[in-house]
Parts: sequence; C-alpha cells; structure tokens
Amino acid sequence: MQVTTTSFGIEEALEQLGIKEVNKGTSTGKNWFSEGEEFSSYSPVDGQVIAKVTTTSKEDYEKVMESATSAFKEWRMKPAPLRGEIVRQFGDELRRLKEPLGKLVSYEMGKSYQEGLGEVQEMIDICDFAVGLSRQLHGLTMHSERPGHRMYEQYHPLGVVGIISAFNFPVAVWAWNTALAWICGDVCVWKPSEKTPLCGIACQKIAAKIMADNNLPEGISCLINGDYKVGEMMTNDKRVPLISATGSIRMGKIVAQAVAGRLGKSLLELGGNNAIIVTPDADIKMTVIGAVFGAVGTAGQRCTSTRRLIIHESMYDKVKDAVVDAYKQLRIGNPLDENNHVGPVIDKDAVKNYQHALKKVVEEGGNIIVEGGVLEGEGFESGCYVKPAIAEAKNSFEIVQHETFAPVLYMMKYSGGVENALELQNGVVQGLSSAIMTNNLREAEHFLSQAGSDCGIANVNIGTSGAEIGGAFGGEKETGGGRESGSDAWKIYMRRQTNTINYTTELPLAQGIKFDL
Ligand code: NAD
Repeated sequence: MQVTTTSFGIEEALEQLGIKEVNKGTSTGKNWFSEGEEFSSYSPVDGQVIAKVTTTSKEDYEKVMESATSAFKEWRMKPAPLRGEIVRQFGDELRRLKEPLGKLVSYEMGKSYQEGLGEVQEMIDICDFAVGLSRQLHGLTMHSERPGHRMYEQYHPLGVVGIISAFNFPVAVWAWNTALAWICGDVCVWKPSEKTPLCGIACQKIAAKIMADNNLPEGISCLINGDYKVGEMMTNDKRVPLISATGSIRMGKIVAQAVAGRLGKSLLELGGNNAIIVTPDADIKMTVIGAVFGAVGTAGQRCTSTRRLIIHESMYDKVKDAVVDAYKQLRIGNPLDENNHVGPVIDKDAVKNYQHALKKVVEEGGNIIVEGGVLEGEGFESGCYVKPAIAEAKNSFEIVQHETFAPVLYMMKYSGGVENALELQNGVVQGLSSAIMTNNLREAEHFLSQAGSDCGIANVNIGTSGAEIGGAFGGEKETGGGRESGSDAWKIYMRRQTNTINYTTELPLAQGIKFDL
C-alpha cells in the first residue's frame, strides 16, 4: 500500500501533540526557547521531513540548568507521595494521548503502530509503579553498638538527572528514568536522540502541562535537543550528579569516562548481542515464535533483539527449517499498516551497516540461508526497508561479536551439554539479554545458576526481546552494568545517608575508643 500520512492519521496525531512545522528544541516547562540551528526529523516510513527542531545552544543550556537547579530546591521539599500524585496525573495524560503518541513513535522511529502503542503503555506502567513506590522509599534501621543510640539509613534526592536516550525507544526510556527520578525528588534534563526529536517535544509538552496545572516551578522537566555535542554539555557538567545514558557501547565508553573524570555517577544502558539457546528438549513451536519475533521485531532494532541462535546439533536442521519457513511468511512494509510484520530501519546509515554485516559474514566464511536485500519501488521510497536475513556463522567471527542494529540473525550449532552452549552465549563482550528454550529442569536451572548466563536478563522459554517494567532492566559487561525501571532501580536516583542519634547525656565513641578530657 502507498504510504500517505493522511491515510494513517499522522497530521491529526501531530496536531493533538502540539507538533508544529518548526519547533523550539529547548524547554524548561511552559517556557520554550532556543534559536540554534534547525535540524529536520525524517520519517523512515516514507522518507519525508516530518518537522524541524532548533538545536540547544550553550546559552540555552545555561538557562535550562539555572531553571533546573532552582526547581530542585522546591521540588525536593514536596513529600514523596505528593510527587507520586504528579506522576499519577502524568500517567493519566499519557493514557489520554496514547494513540497519537504511539502513532508518532511509529512514524518517526519506524516501529509498528502496535509496538508504538506498547511503548506508550510501558510509560503508563512505569508511572503506576512509581506512584506506589513514592510511598515506599525505604531505608534500613540497624542496632547501634553504643548504648542510647539509634542508627538508620535514609535516601535523599540527588539533584539534576541528565538523560541521554537512543532512537529505538524514543519515549519509554525517558519515562523509565523520569517517573522514578521525579518521585525520588530529582529534576530531569533530557536529550533525546537527534533521530527522534519530535517524540521528545511531544513528551515534554505532556509533562509541562501537568507541572503547570499543579503550579509547579519551571525546570522539573527540561528538554534539550541536538547531537552528541549537546549531550556533552551535560556529561561534562558538575551540576549534573547522575547521567543516565542509553545507546551504543561506543557512546557509553565516552560518556562513562567523561562522567567518571568528574566523579559523577552514570547509569549505562548499552548494546546487546543476545542469544537464544535451543536444547534437545526445546518446544519447537515456542522456539520459532520467540526467535522470529526477537530477530525481526522492530526490524532488529531493539537492544534485546535476538542476534544469535545457538542450537543443539540434534535439533539443528529441524529448527533451521522451521525458522526459515517462518521467514517466508513475513510481510515487510509500512509499520502503520497492521498487516505488516517488519517496518523500516531508522536511516540509510543503518541500511549500510546491515549490508556491511551480510557481506562481512560471507567473507569470514558464513553461509547465508535467508537472503537479504534492500526493497525498492512503491511504498519503499525511503530506501530504509530491508529483508530480514539469516546466516549460518561461527561465534568467533568478528561480525558476530558485534551488534548490528538490523534484522540479521546468526545461527550456530553446539554439541554436548548446555555448558557448551553457554560458552558460546557468554563468549561475547555484551551481556544484556539471554534465553534458553528447554523443558529440561536441569538445563534450565544450570542456565540460571552462577555458572550459567552472564547477562542481566536470563529467560526460560521466552525469547530475549522485551521486558516487563516490574523487574530491574539492564545488562552486564560492555552493556554497561546499569539497572533501570522496576525492583530497587530507584536507589541510583538518590543519595544514601546514614544517621546516628545519641539520646543519652554521655558521648561514647565507637569501637570502644576512650578520649577522656
Ligand atoms: P547512539 O549511541 O548513536 O546514540 C544514543 C544517544 O547518545 C543519542 O542521544 C546521541 O546523541 C547521544 N550521544 C552520542 N555520543 C555522545 C557523546 N559522546 N556524548 C553524549 N551523548 C552522546 O545510539 P543509537 O543509535 O541512538 O541507539 C542504538 C543503540 O542503543 C544500540 O546499541 C542499542 O543496543 C542501544 N540501546 C540500549 C538499550 C539498553 O537498555 N541497554 C536500550 C535502547 C538502545
């Protein structure tokens, strides 16, 4: 079907979200400014310019920081449950605007409309989680070794949290950070990806309305826009105690060093190289669904996308044939059309990386079993639609060791026990998501044991892709070690303080030390 923005209601969605032809890219809430250079947001769906955004200049950034640091002084004094009430209202506004925002996510980023709606649902879910959490920011109490003393720990807000996000989750990652940071009493400055700035503008408008409705100061939610140079303003800024950065390992290494150089904290959510192990006891039907959705969903552009299938030799041909068959059913096309399974990749650079991976795997001795290629013709004018491809490869290939952010799946065999499959799975520098398909309890438990998967996420009979907000999300090794979202991930957004109170008339010293005057 020919792609037109009118047939999918994009104009209406943009209007509902307040997106104009040219948008100021810097905001402290109600206040929008910046006269920096304009840049365009292109849709990978049809290659059209959706709208323009102005870049944040150094002067704009200073205004943002003044506003944020002053808002923090007021915001931190609000009781946490009251901050939770603001997040509740924000979640309700997201419920109201779920469809237009989901549509914008789909049109600007290229994921399917269903996935766009799913991403907004994740924002709503984290708001609900944060509201409950706003009454549970618990510290511990402990017994003092000194008589008549009480000792406990409490958590205080950190200050300004800087958020740098990637293009592939253009709204949810911000919400994971802000919903928690806000209930913790922090204020947030967000730099969205330069590939999806309109999603940033739409979200900031939603947050700004809630802050204004509640007469809260400018600066609790701030937005800056532009490329890495704008991100660097924050990473080098001592006024920002925590940088939460989501993106490539290359970016994470630069950000981590800049932040560590000023002894700030960083929360890093970087690339993955996720594998599914398929054992002799796997359910083939479940394996195929998990593997295909994991490899081609979001056109292979999830940090948790399945990149490698590690299959026991006894099952190899059966699984290979079933997956190859499933690939034949895939419909590639406009992601706003719910009949399609696979939409475009983000831009022409992503297409080049995809082509490079397919060329390189053959050069290294791999064998393509599902051919790739770039689609042309009606409906594919953006030049960003590629065919999901599969190659038989070795784990040691250089290209297999790298994350290619595109729908390329590598298949490989293992023999012997599950520990041999784990050698392969863990034999990469990344450590985000992992999965095993098995009905064998011993294999499943070994996979989950301390000798098992070395990833932040380890699933049994579920693919690698996607996660619920209730659990802590993140990965080990070069994935960066950060944890976001559920569980006790909130603690990174706060500083811990140990308090000891003496309610006697004596001043005993710890460790029995005597100091008589
Ligand atoms: P990217 O690294 O190119 O950019 C991410 C963000 O970092 C952008 O906002 C960019 O402007 C900014 N940036 C880049 N260099 C910077 C620098 N030197 N200083 C400050 N900011 C800088 O990543 P991308 O292409 O947008 O996203 C894809 C990558 O993100 C993949 O590797 C994917 O696995 C990863 N990702 C990880 C997670 C996770 O939770 N682990 C989630 C989503 C995406």
